[in-house]
Amino acid sequence: MRHAIGIDIGATNTRIALGNDEGELIEVVTFKTWDYQDPNLYLEKIAYAIRELRAKYKVEVAGVGVGSPGPLDMARGEVVAAPNMPFKKLEVVRVLKELVNLPVAFANDAVTAAVGEKFWGEGAGLDNLVYVTISTGIGGGVYVDGSLLLGKDGNAHEIGHVVVDSQERLTCGCGKKGHWEAYCSGSGIPKFARFIAEHEKVEGSRLMTGGKLEARDVFEAYRVGDPLARRVISEVKRFNAYGFAAIVNYYDPELVTVGGSVALNNPDILLEGLRDSVKNYTVNRPPEIKLTRLGANAGLLGALALGLGLERKVPLR
Ligand SMILES: [Zn+2]
Repeated sequence: MRHAIGIDIGATNTRIALGNDEGELIEVVTFKTWDYQDPNLYLEKIAYAIRELRAKYKVEVAGVGVGSPGPLDMARGEVVAAPNMPFKKLEVVRVLKELVNLPVAFANDAVTAAVGEKFWGEGAGLDNLVYVTISTGIGGGVYVDGSLLLGKDGNAHEIGHVVVDSQERLTCGCGKKGHWEAYCSGSGIPKFARFIAEHEKVEGSRLMTGGKLEARDVFEAYRVGDPLARRVISEVKRFNAYGFAAIVNYYDPELVTVGGSVALNNPDILLEGLRDSVKNYTVNRPPEIKLTRLGANAGLLGALALGLGLERKVPLR
């Protein structure tokens, strides 16, 4: 049996796992990404966790796979300007290789999750597969004809930045207007709720009466029939249909799986009726659209697959 290390760099948590080639995560170490403001100290913390895991389990490790929020410079193995991270630049491949003396494979976190889906999830045996994450942002990873799409810098899948609002009401974290992520992500939904509260007359809502508004507050209010939350979520569902329709039209997948905390916590709301709504905007034969069964581990399992050298488009180096 072969073993490798998978690392899931997240805007909130960083998770490091030792796993094997059956897709089993043997132990997962988690720490808060924001506890480390210095990129080198952060990578040293990761290296320390890898050394501890190797010392504890005494197994041969094939390599280290890393998934990180983009945008990336894949050729250089760096995160160049992640919007939700404590550091601007992170030289993942060069520094980690030095610190742990193992080959490293590196990709965008949503791409990594698509790799997880392909090797150990619902995508096994499928050549045309899209994984969509709806969490702090919206991202995706895409297989077409069995080949993982990367693009010139490894950012071929920035589907969260497809334009869904021709009125351009909200500005995205990337600085551009009307993007899907600006309305329907974990960070976008509260902003969208605030915008609607300010610009439309919705009577009888208690949604804006609290302090800090989060996506989960909007979903909770929706569940108890709050009129503003109902209005917001119906708009979110409409824009999700546009976003998923773009994916179906561009990539013609057999299957679309959905993960990310916002989707994983609210599949009954977000996936309900989605496929039928998508059909209103697509020309291609509609694929199945379903929640990932890998849960919050899709990215970590994909990173493990990269660490084992299983995905030829993202080799260990
Ligand atoms: Zn954007």
